[in-house]
Amino acid sequence: ALNIPDKQVDSVCPYCGVGCQLTYNVKDNKILYVEGRDGPANHGRLCVKGRYGFDYAHHPHRLTKPLIRRAGMPKTGEFVMDPDRVLEVFREATWEEALALAGGTLARIRDTHGGAALAGFGSAKGSNEEAYLFQKLVRTGFGTNNVDHCTRLCHASSVSALLEGIGSGAVSNPVMDVMRAEVIVVIGANPTVNHPVAATWIKNAVKEGAKLILLDPRRSELARHAHRSLQFKPDTDVALLNALMHVIVSERLVDEAFIASRTIGYAELEANVAEYSPEAMAPICGIDAETIRYVARLYATSKGSMILWGMGISQHIHGTDNARCLIALALMTGQIGRPGTGLHPLRGQNNVQGASDAGLIPMMLPDYQRVDNPAARAKFEAAWNTTLDPKPGLTVVEIMDAIDAGQIRGMYIMGENPAMSDPDANHARAALAALKHLVVQDIFLTETAYLADVILPASAFPEKTGTFTNTDRLVQLGRQAIDPPGEAKQDLWIIQQMAQQLGLPWNYGHVSEVFDEMRRTMASIGGITWERLESEGAVVYPCVAEGDAGEPVVFTDTFPREGGRARFVPADIIPADERPDAEYPMVLITGRQLEHWHTGSMTRRATVLDALEPDPVALVHPLDLERLGVKPGDAITIASRRGEVVLWARADDSSPVGAIFVPFCYYEAAINRLTNAALDPFGKIPEFKYCAIKVTSG
Ligand code: SF4
Repeated sequence: ALNIPDKQVDSVCPYCGVGCQLTYNVKDNKILYVEGRDGPANHGRLCVKGRYGFDYAHHPHRLTKPLIRRAGMPKTGEFVMDPDRVLEVFREATWEEALALAGGTLARIRDTHGGAALAGFGSAKGSNEEAYLFQKLVRTGFGTNNVDHCTRLCHASSVSALLEGIGSGAVSNPVMDVMRAEVIVVIGANPTVNHPVAATWIKNAVKEGAKLILLDPRRSELARHAHRSLQFKPDTDVALLNALMHVIVSERLVDEAFIASRTIGYAELEANVAEYSPEAMAPICGIDAETIRYVARLYATSKGSMILWGMGISQHIHGTDNARCLIALALMTGQIGRPGTGLHPLRGQNNVQGASDAGLIPMMLPDYQRVDNPAARAKFEAAWNTTLDPKPGLTVVEIMDAIDAGQIRGMYIMGENPAMSDPDANHARAALAALKHLVVQDIFLTETAYLADVILPASAFPEKTGTFTNTDRLVQLGRQAIDPPGEAKQDLWIIQQMAQQLGLPWNYGHVSEVFDEMRRTMASIGGITWERLESEGAVVYPCVAEGDAGEPVVFTDTFPREGGRARFVPADIIPADERPDAEYPMVLITGRQLEHWHTGSMTRRATVLDALEPDPVALVHPLDLERLGVKPGDAITIASRRGEVVLWARADDSSPVGAIFVPFCYYEAAINRLTNAALDPFGKIPEFKYCAIKVTSG
């Protein structure tokens, strides 16, 4: 009888971009267990995170009262995990006092130094409505476009290439389209770990006869299901992809009619790939010429070939070039615009697509309308009754540099943890500590909140209602199942209170009022009504007019670019910013684990997930372990030019010899202290997937 729920609430998984629908089974304001629902992306399936990663919401570390930093308490030293020691650094405050200090100080900085002295980080963990209001607050209350979120650290380069090449940053086909593809290419992604339910659809497709081609320096679990698995050398993506295109061009496997009727720029692309024969590229990328030819022919000649990619493509200083090559492959072969084809950048966080759509990015207003476009600005100035800054704002890493330079003095961070997630995290932490005023809104005392002046206790995912957009462009409804603990408040309420402190007369009632305002300013979701979301649970966009079914597959007859044509953009090889040398002879690749999500603030406080993977580990090739004189389970120190961490070695031959993989979720071995903040010049994404390190025993 103890485990019989008193209510069941249908919602969405808070973790990855697959967007599995689930049901919270609740008793006495506590989630007992979670079950998968028959949602469009999961059809009842859930992975270990979705099924077991829910009790973080009930963790004793939850923030339940506003906190204000004690006078004179320096922003130095190591993060304190012990919740009993939180009150050594912070004192409890009333909401009235905390909001007056948080918002009042930001307002004073704005009035004294101008809006450009402020910045905001929103979060892809939040709803579309929270993202929309947060960016609106920064743009209209702060008076700057310095607003960004974690898309900058995951798919900014993919989006930059997609907007340039095909006019839309979202996917062309849903994950489930793998069931209709003959050939599935997965490159720079490990879906079994990072998009587990998507991986199950890929495996099902293979069982039905699809050929799976894996292209990745690391071997993933999907390799067991692959027709071919090409473990190319790290950082040689452009060499390999240009070689594939060379074969398609030289063997006349291109779709001439598609190129002639629907694209521009092919001649430049063709001339560029002429230099990249498989024979010339084989020694560079480590894949023999005949295999390159085989894969190129297979991709180009199948009835339907679909490409899915992840951070292995995007997190390089040449991330935009990598994505340009994937787009060119699809365009030259006409493998786009039909079911079972297309381009799918797998989104990492459950609402990274929606947060970007809602304008949580410095150069774009909602619906990717550029801030430096006078017509777009005029539209939002009229809708918001304000004057907008025409200058694109700074991105995540640029904001840290601007703090160093004394340009940014105050920040408002909602649900983001840059002290763990930013590259060169020692520098990021020093920058956050140097701020005159930092306001953090979160559910736990994260590594970032530890550096705050004011902490506003917020709501966890099951404690609020809102819409979330998954990797397939599905807008889905997450419903409140439990109440926030103590005096913690819903994020939408907190944002509005902050807005009022900054002089904005906001007074939205139900979350649907925010969604309705979004619909009025964002054509892509204009046809999605709240009532429809409540009855259907999920609607795909573009959905321009009420009653539209929405379009799961786009670009069927035109691209949303000038003249309706997609554009080829050639790319050449640009080496990683920091190559191994005598002092730092190995390569560091960072990423995620199945059991943990991003900076670990939620999953490391979920009982089952933490029990499965409790300690920081580095995956090291057995031959490297032997050379280093280290046994599995021994402590090792990994150092780069920017910092060092100590963690446990795990024998794992999925990475090539000389390359070590480390998850970035462990605060006690925060691997981003080591990563390189060098940026892709287009997407401004840091090079998380490659930097030089040295490893020692102990
Ligand atoms: Fe959640 Fe992603 Fe797992 Fe689905 S695949 S249950 S969305 S983490």
